[in-house]
Amino acid sequence: MTKWLLRCTRCGLDSYLDVGFDLTMFGNIIYLYCPRCKSNTEHKVLGYIDDDTGEFIKFEDAVTEKFKSVSLF
Ligand SMILES: [Zn+2]
Repeated sequence: MTKWLLRCTRCGLDSYLDVGFDLTMFGNIIYLYCPRCKSNTEHKVLGYIDDDTGEFIKFEDAVTEKFKSVSLF
């Protein structure tokens, strides 16, 4: 599971989402329910928390990492 940090583009509320897949596959905008807006809104993917180090990885860096690993093959 990866803990992603998301921000509602309508009200700016930050929230975490635990998912077992790579959100960078969907680009940096996903639609989710926002409890403050009380509706489905656009959420910007800001980055994720690295499980091993507890470090925050920015979305841009996550994408760069992916391209790096892709180029190995
Ligand atoms: Zn919102």
